[in-house]
Amino acid sequence: MNVLVINCGSSSLKYQLINSDSEEVLAKGLCERIGIDGGMLTHQPAGKDKIKTQVDMPSHTVAVELVIKSLTDKENGVIASLSEIGAVGHRVVHGGESFAESVVIDDAVMKAIEDCNDLAPLHNPANLIGIRACQELMPNVPMVAVFDTAFHQTMPKKAYFYGLPHEYYEKYKVRRYGFHGTSHSYVSKRVAEILGKDYTSLKTIVCHLGNGASISAVMNGKCVDTSMGLTPLEGLIMGTRSGDLDPAILGFIAGKENLTLPEVTDVLNKKSGVLGLSGVSSDFRDLEAAAKDGNQWAIDTLDTYYYRVAKYIGSYAAAMNGVDVIAFTAGVGENNPPGREQIVSYLGYLGADVVPEKNNCRGEERVISSDQAKVTVMVVPTNEELAIARETVRLV
Ligand code: ADP
Repeated sequence: MNVLVINCGSSSLKYQLINSDSEEVLAKGLCERIGIDGGMLTHQPAGKDKIKTQVDMPSHTVAVELVIKSLTDKENGVIASLSEIGAVGHRVVHGGESFAESVVIDDAVMKAIEDCNDLAPLHNPANLIGIRACQELMPNVPMVAVFDTAFHQTMPKKAYFYGLPHEYYEKYKVRRYGFHGTSHSYVSKRVAEILGKDYTSLKTIVCHLGNGASISAVMNGKCVDTSMGLTPLEGLIMGTRSGDLDPAILGFIAGKENLTLPEVTDVLNKKSGVLGLSGVSSDFRDLEAAAKDGNQWAIDTLDTYYYRVAKYIGSYAAAMNGVDVIAFTAGVGENNPPGREQIVSYLGYLGADVVPEKNNCRGEERVISSDQAKVTVMVVPTNEELAIARETVRLV
């Protein structure tokens, strides 16, 4: 079956068409600037060059229309007609407490996703628009929602409660949810497969270090803790997000800089993280280059970033009373050997190490610790689209 995987943002839409039997990506692409002037469609059939087309997309429905057109195009398409799409898998960011698993989308599911809009005001409404656009154009094709939060729903109360008056939980569901669940689930399962171990008797810490970054503790096949919270702002220092900080800083900065709380939150989401601290870039390639050139802020930023990751790993080893595997994934985790080495240098007490020759790899599945290490350290590239396609097939 061919599964169309859709990841819809407020002004963008990423897609992949995956053959679920061979798990081959037939084509992928991106619609940018939906609803804004200067729209751009990038379509890439497998094994061919990217085709960029400047085309205005006033709505997500128009964007999905163009995606279908590209996929069925005589020259650069990969299927003859729409009927060759067996199902659509949608990435949905927030499932609140309603969804601990992926689901086939019906009216009740749409309503439940809408009920979570408050918890992810930037993401869920866009995800819903993407689903509706697909439903409009493919009314008879089954659709599945795969939630970023679902994998973390197994966290116990002690991991998801904040030290706040419990009425905020009861009234507004203020608690920790966690994100990147599809990636944490995929990577932790892949770890067990690669090592030939039983997933349900393994303690794994997954470090998803991308532009957004989070860590999870997966014990006996279940997520028991993760670093992101009510929103993706909590936890690690990220590309542009601050991660953990003293909550009193919000009011302090608001007062000093004469900003409203939403404006401060915007700074914490978009102008902080390694971008804000270094003043250089949110991209680790730029940071590594600036650090090499002796830029002290870049050097200190990288140190601060890796230190925070190492502290989280230590706390999750404590949460699980041990750890068997530490896995690095996503852009930074997969492609940054010096970063992995620096993080693991804090973890000798756990019995983790890194062999430089093994660690000298990018984007490939590999064990990078020594044979005698007590904790296996690995690189496992994530594949959220494939995970969404698998979930979709499982449910339809
Ligand atoms: P997201 O999906 O959250 O946008 P990714 O997982 O694609 O993020 O990660 C993007 C980040 O990965 C980039 O910002 C960059 O910092 C980092 N990255 C990508 N390639 C490299 C590389 N070769 N070396 C170091 N960092 C890299």
